[in-house]
Amino acid sequence: MMGIERVAIIGLGLIGSSIARAIKERLPQVAVTGHDSKAEVRDIARELDFCDAIVGDPAGAVADADLVILAVPVGRMADAAAAIAPGLKAEAIISDVGSSKAGVADALAKALPDHVVIPAHPVAGTENSGPAAGFATLFEGRWCIVTPDASASEDAVTVVTSFWQALGARVETMDAAHHDMVLAVTSHLPHLIAYTIVGTASELEEVTESEVIKYSAGGFRDFTRIAASDPVMWRDVFLSNRDAVLATLQRFNEDLTVLQQAIRRGDAAKLEDWFTRTRAIRRSIIEQGQDDAAPDFGRKH
Ligand code: NAP
Repeated sequence: MMGIERVAIIGLGLIGSSIARAIKERLPQVAVTGHDSKAEVRDIARELDFCDAIVGDPAGAVADADLVILAVPVGRMADAAAAIAPGLKAEAIISDVGSSKAGVADALAKALPDHVVIPAHPVAGTENSGPAAGFATLFEGRWCIVTPDASASEDAVTVVTSFWQALGARVETMDAAHHDMVLAVTSHLPHLIAYTIVGTASELEEVTESEVIKYSAGGFRDFTRIAASDPVMWRDVFLSNRDAVLATLQRFNEDLTVLQQAIRRGDAAKLEDWFTRTRAIRRSIIEQGQDDAAPDFGRKH
């Protein structure tokens, strides 16, 4: 595939192990070397056998790689890049899968000034983490956003784009700052709201915790899935995409106040209009194949 004979994956959690599995399934001619800083994760990865080789030393892991993908939490990207730097081939392309892009792009450019870096973000995931949580079809039909800087080599962008397409993803290119604003709205704010609601409910004095759990099918349960997402990953996302998240949060607070006012004033039309608009958004997501139309997310009752 496009001159890529070996891919090295640094960080073998949900995303890294899913990439390795997808390569095995869809690009069997490409060899995969995996590395994780945790010995326990390396042992599990060996057992699950989704890489051709698992290497304990980060520089050794990238030695023969044509494409290196950093799949570590956003706050660990700089360290991971510094650790692989001494082992990289001069012509290797370095990419990542971080959920925020401007900060990561800066960190990677600083740590790897002599290398081609093409950042990317597969917009696909689950609330689970670790090497056992990954699966080969995670990226199928999902979007991967590639955020090259203005001076990036077109050939290298094509390699990264073709790689993600080969794993089943649809690829879009945009600049890092725009990515961070879009994802603040579609991913980061929803996670923050879920973390808030689940935290608030667990601290209410008038409603017991057992009642919250017992009656969770009223809506709360759907927020708990998102609020169960990896704490380290999400800590880093909010710290690194601070400005875009705060800007979006400001808008959210204003809209929340509008709804609060409508409820207080008994403004039925305002509430109904608003909820009609949001229902249409759900329909568009289903129509565009980004979710299943099955009622209640396809849960078996
Ligand atoms: P994960 O399941 O927690 O896996 C991350 C792995 O990287 C862990 O095993 C971690 O080990 C290891 N690691 C940390 N620092 C390292 C280093 N310096 N060198 C080598 N390995 C290191 O997380 P994930 O969900 O796969 O997320 C990985 C990246 O993908 C993050 O940047 C995240 O923002 C992005 N992403 C996530 C999703 C999602 O839904 N989960 C979706 C798209 C993109 P330790 O346990 O020792 O830290």
